[in-house]
Amino acid sequence: MILKPDYNVKNVFEVNFDELKEQGIKVLIFDLDSTVMKSKAGVFSVDVLKMFDNLSKDFMLTIASNNKNIDYINKVRAQVNFPVIGHANKPSPAVIKSFLEENAIPPKDAAMIGDRPLTDILVGKLLGSTTVLVDSISKDEEPPLTRFVRRVERLSIR
Ligand SMILES: [Mg+2]
Repeated sequence: MILKPDYNVKNVFEVNFDELKEQGIKVLIFDLDSTVMKSKAGVFSVDVLKMFDNLSKDFMLTIASNNKNIDYINKVRAQVNFPVIGHANKPSPAVIKSFLEENAIPPKDAAMIGDRPLTDILVGKLLGSTTVLVDSISKDEEPPLTRFVRRVERLSIR
């Protein structure tokens, strides 16, 4: 019950960003893997980069990934002109909370957007931010076991 996201949509492109803006959201915190980048791809698609470009007119953008590989995170950083937080340690809110504090952003002004209830949605709830659950950006290409694990994890949001 606690993990029920505020919004639950098909993929990151289906998020109603206009509504988030109307709700007073000023900062978007995206999960990386499977949310805005295919798992382990290392590069953003043209469509995602275009989306970032459009969104940057209305929001401050951030990516918060649990990936601890600094080379991978630096490769991601090189492709965008906004902060990319590695080793975010979701669902613990500490790392993202410090980031928000450093930038004087009240958590209620932020929306956490991710594909995992037990990390992305939980950290958003713990922060007191708006939460948006998306399906994996590479859903149709994932192996059956991954899809099965996702279905089981999604039981936590009912
Ligand atoms: Mg993810």
